Amino acid sequence: MTAVTGGKWMERSAMETTTQDGTATLPPRITKALIDRLTGMVAAGAAGEKREPYEMIEVYTGKAIGSLPQSSPEDVVAAAANARAAQREWASWPLSRRLAVFEKAHELLLAEHETIAELIQIGNGKTRRMAVEESCDVPMVVSHYLKVAKRVLKPVRRGGPMPIITTSTEQHRPKGVVAVISPWNFPYAISLSDSVPALIAGNGVVLKPDNKTALCVLYGVELLYKAGLPRGLLQVVCGGGPDVGPTIIENVDFVMFTGSTATGRVIGELAGRNLIGCSLELGGKNPMIVLDDADLDDVIPNAVFAVYGNSGQACMHIERIYVADRLYDEFVRRFVAAAEELGAKAGARYDYTPEFGSLASVDHMEKVAAHVEDARAKGATVHTGGVPMTDVGPAFYAPTVLTGVTADMLHATMETFGPVATIYRYSDERDVIRQANATTYGLNASVWSKDLAHARRVADRIEAGNININDGYVTTYSSKGTPSGGVKQSGVGARHGDAGLLKYTDTVNVGVQKIQVMTARARQPFDKQLRQTLMTLRLMRKLRIR
Ligand code: NAD
Repeated sequence: MTAVTGGKWMERSAMETTTQDGTATLPPRITKALIDRLTGMVAAGAAGEKREPYEMIEVYTGKAIGSLPQSSPEDVVAAAANARAAQREWASWPLSRRLAVFEKAHELLLAEHETIAELIQIGNGKTRRMAVEESCDVPMVVSHYLKVAKRVLKPVRRGGPMPIITTSTEQHRPKGVVAVISPWNFPYAISLSDSVPALIAGNGVVLKPDNKTALCVLYGVELLYKAGLPRGLLQVVCGGGPDVGPTIIENVDFVMFTGSTATGRVIGELAGRNLIGCSLELGGKNPMIVLDDADLDDVIPNAVFAVYGNSGQACMHIERIYVADRLYDEFVRRFVAAAEELGAKAGARYDYTPEFGSLASVDHMEKVAAHVEDARAKGATVHTGGVPMTDVGPAFYAPTVLTGVTADMLHATMETFGPVATIYRYSDERDVIRQANATTYGLNASVWSKDLAHARRVADRIEAGNININDGYVTTYSSKGTPSGGVKQSGVGARHGDAGLLKYTDTVNVGVQKIQVMTARARQPFDKQLRQTLMTLRLMRKLRIR
């Protein structure tokens, strides 16, 4: 693989030079003392055989920044027990007292956005802009549930089978301890935003972030404790997924997982074996359809963000672009130019100048490159990109545009999860809907048209859990009041909305019979009781009482 050289990309800032001993020099806020404090929060080393720590690196340089303790299965058992002990007290607090903690957390999380962003950047390599935007997701989720939690969690009186004489009330009780297992692409937002509703509902949480990106998560957890979360309620365990995953799932009452579809299957099986519920947010192969009446002035910049934002490492990002015949040539020309322009703004810096960041690891960059090389070898056209940008940083990969991708290529059907998209030409609307749906995934889709009714008609026929009209993915993801999840192999359940809070509760049905009318009275013949029952059922239907 060749690297792009020749000073085409932005230069590194002086701040990110490395020390002579090969360790990274980090931004001034990120001191060794802070890293030691955060890694000291991991529930590890107290029980069972001590594990080798994980060496964390700064993605921009590939240099070491410190060691992350790894939890043994015994540590995980102890962490879950500690969370459970703290949860009993937490669940007994009135909801308004629990919410007061999150009122305070909202302010702290916003105030600390620069440190949060730096910690995200160190482990993930994304741009500062994207890291700050990621940091804002958690206060948005906090704010939404502060607004609605009382309504959603309130007991609901439903009425029993016999009006007035019986009642049935729906209560929402916390499940107990919830596991939150999160990936590295939006490590802070997913870990915290999925934990917040679980906590608000009255649960304890055992949180397992990805090793690469654990620091930002630990910092967010520290802020929640500063806001007043009771000690021990939110436990962080770290380790390789297969090492700690089974023990986590055996010791909790629900699992909220975000990651690949392959791992989602494993988690679903483990949850099934333990008879606990799970919510799975998985991968995608998301299509964008540019209808023939779309305005390319609007589409191009948005398509660039939808494909290359977060360097293409967003589950809802676009990898397949279907463009109407009439617009195709102009779209390809302008999109390729925009991708090149973006690539020239790549940079490994802790400031706001770079507009295109790194991939999260060299391993992942090589996986992305392998998809592109496979497509190239089998005859696809690489219009721009298709090369690592190792002179910017070891895990950078140039924004890439492909055409001529055929079904036998890896990128055609598999999630590449990098800054790579393929453009397809279409002339028949029914056919493009069929092509958009021809995937095992169903996470997100984007439809573009000046005619909203036209776009809606197409959207109604797309198989995806999120459909954005005249947007790539931001509108659905940021709408915290609406549940957001995948269909087909992209997930089970949803986050956000009422469902995103209620899934962390057990619904308990409390029935009351004020007078004994539901059982046969002593010595009453059964045929008489049956006649009365049938008459009552007919009457209640007629009066629309039941
Ligand atoms: P991954 O499945 O490899 O890992 C996700 C998390 O699961 C990590 O913390 C990992 O350590 C852990 N894990 C792995 N094996 C495990 C096991 N056997 N038991 C328990 N935990 C285990 O995914 P990834 O590569 O980190 O993330 C990228 C994937 O996540 C992509 O497919 C992307 O589309 C998906 N994703 C989906 C959403 C969504 O909301 N639908 C959001 C972000 C990312």
